[in-house]
Amino acid sequence: MSDRTAAVTGNISIDAPWSLIEAFATQPREKPADGNIGAEMIAERLRGFGVPVTVHQPDLYLSLPISASVQAGGATFAAKPPAFTVSAPAGVEAPLLYVPAAGAGNPLDRSAGRLDDPSRFEGRIVITEGFALPNAVAEYETAGAAGVIAVNPGERIHWGTVSTIWGTPDLDDLGRLPKIVSAAVNNADGRKLIEIAEQGGSARVSTELEVGWFPSNIPVVEIPGAKRPDQFVLLHGHYDSWDVGVGDNGTGNACMLEIARVLWANRDRLDRSVRMAWWAGHSTGRYGGSAWFADTFAQDLAENCVIQMNCDSPGCRWATSYRSISLTSETEAAVKAVVMAATGQETTGKRPQRNSDYAFNNIGISSAFMASSMMPPEALEDHGYYTVGGCGGNIAWHTEDDTLEIADQAVLLKDIELYTTAVLQFANAEILPFDWHATTREFGATIDRYQSAAGDRFDLSPAQEAVTALDAALETFYARIGAGSIDADTANDAIRDLARILVPINYTRLPRFRHDPALNVPPLPALAVAEDLDRYDAGTIGFAKTQLLRGRNQVVAALREAEQRVRRAVGDG
Ligand SMILES: [Zn+2]
Repeated sequence: MSDRTAAVTGNISIDAPWSLIEAFATQPREKPADGNIGAEMIAERLRGFGVPVTVHQPDLYLSLPISASVQAGGATFAAKPPAFTVSAPAGVEAPLLYVPAAGAGNPLDRSAGRLDDPSRFEGRIVITEGFALPNAVAEYETAGAAGVIAVNPGERIHWGTVSTIWGTPDLDDLGRLPKIVSAAVNNADGRKLIEIAEQGGSARVSTELEVGWFPSNIPVVEIPGAKRPDQFVLLHGHYDSWDVGVGDNGTGNACMLEIARVLWANRDRLDRSVRMAWWAGHSTGRYGGSAWFADTFAQDLAENCVIQMNCDSPGCRWATSYRSISLTSETEAAVKAVVMAATGQETTGKRPQRNSDYAFNNIGISSAFMASSMMPPEALEDHGYYTVGGCGGNIAWHTEDDTLEIADQAVLLKDIELYTTAVLQFANAEILPFDWHATTREFGATIDRYQSAAGDRFDLSPAQEAVTALDAALETFYARIGAGSIDADTANDAIRDLARILVPINYTRLPRFRHDPALNVPPLPALAVAEDLDRYDAGTIGFAKTQLLRGRNQVVAALREAEQRVRRAVGDG
């Protein structure tokens, strides 16, 4: 850790963050009016530290769950309606169809998959294990189902969302708003309902939600860098929660509050600026707040943002492991060093899934961190926990149990130190510590995998050759950086431009400045159908090959553009 970083992290204290967590433990931040009070609690603390804060108030399109129930076999079962499911207070009644979940024990991995014999779903209420998830609900809807009941794995029913639309819908997205009812029930009730389904029974699913446009406060802080003030690191996390949501995401809000305090006090130690944002509409707007920010400040983000880092669910009890961090490959080496410096642990990067306010992939911004500390697998096993999507692995995630006991002071302090170290690493590096060789290695491995799946049915070698050519240009680029024979601004501009080209082709299908759906995207998505060619017969394989040819053109063109950009930086193009 550099002296400059140590001088900043030495100021970190648990006092301010813990006081916010205690206050949030009795302040629900689910309905926009309650959330706005939470946002003001963050803003007033920032002002108290002398940190200037701008509170934006966009109208976000939100879906607020009110109530749900399932009636079957003469009984009424408690349920929760996921955000964006259809509001049907009078209920929808239909015969049940039990579809055992695939996804080997992971309730977050519940694609309906390829629906064999789709006609059997027609007019039925599908009941299946797992959380209420957008991909599965959308697939059942397409197959003609009348509704979906998700049988959660535990005693508590988890809140969630079933919209595949990222952020506030635009006209192109609107058609994907869910059109069928869905509801989540707990495991014991779900078992009873599955029995009723197996006996040929019916159910009535009733849901009530309030949908519309709600003014939603978004506090944003700008801590100016002393040397390159236009360029900035973006650190962000949602403050809206389900109920009081202490571990998701009161702890993250507190972590960022403390970072704002110490960075503001030490702003003379910052080269680049640091922009920090606390989002509304994460849960009930499907990342509505961060998507609004990406849209509203798109040109500034495109020109000046060097990296975006998300802070969600740090500082939770028993979450002592940092062995895996979501990131884009070019940041992996730098993040490994940061995690080692702040926690003493080895970590490896993993591909970010399409969630967690990663609203910046289409603009093309390098990324690191969704969550940080997690319960190690042994701890999950000791507690008999199933997999959840936050709270460091505590199953209180997205339930009424996400209360003060989920937060842990020692873990939170470690996370604050980790994020502070990471911010300083990227804000203060003379030349941005991004290793684009890691990205070309990733692309090479992805294309190899797709090529072996496609066999001789399609030739991806032009894409592989373009990767090799980019890699060769990068060799020269990094050698010049190592020799000090390229000036920092030239190198940094090239590194930023590579992100604008290479992040979109690896994470998006839609153009820049749009938002891909909230569904996972395979690596180099334009080529991904290569792995699916077995699905096509003699009459349809031509369509798949046409798709691949266009996708290959897109990938090759992007790789060549990146290569030319690197050559220009080294004065060779
Ligand atoms: Zn969260």
